[in-house]
Amino acid sequence: MATLKQQKYWDSLKGKKTWNKDIKTGPNPTHSLRMTGKKFPSHSGKNHENWKGNNVGLIALHEWMRKQIKEPKCCEECGKEKKLDLANISQEYKRDVSDWEYLCRRCHMIKDGRMERFLSTHRFIGNPYQKRLEKLENER
Ligand SMILES: [Zn+2]
Repeated sequence: MATLKQQKYWDSLKGKKTWNKDIKTGPNPTHSLRMTGKKFPSHSGKNHENWKGNNVGLIALHEWMRKQIKEPKCCEECGKEKKLDLANISQEYKRDVSDWEYLCRRCHMIKDGRMERFLSTHRFIGNPYQKRLEKLENER
C-alpha cells in the first residue's frame, strides 16, 4: 500500500520519464519471462539509458522494481532462505523486470564480481574469509 506521499512521488516520476513503457503488466511478469527462457535478453543497448552515476535515479529504480517484482522467500541463485537484495543482472540498470533478480548478499557479491575483488585484495591464511561472509550475512 503506497501512502499518498509516495503515490505523488511516483506520479511525478512517471511524468518525467517514460520508464514504464517496456514493462509487462500481470501478476508476476518476471516469472513468466523466465519460463520462456528469456531471463537474459540480448544486451542491444536499446534500453540502455544513463542510470549509472545517478544515485537518486538508481534508488528510485530499485524501489520501483521492488514493487514490480515480488520478493521470493529464497535466493534465486543458491535457493537459501535469507534476506535478499534486488540485484541487477546486466549492471546496466535497465528498466526491465527481466534484468533484475533477488539474491542473497553473498550471491549478489559474487555475481557483481565484488567477491573476486574482495578476495584478491585480501590475502588470508586458511579460510578466514568464510567468517567474514558469515558476518556480512548476519548484518542483514
Ligand atoms: Zn544466494
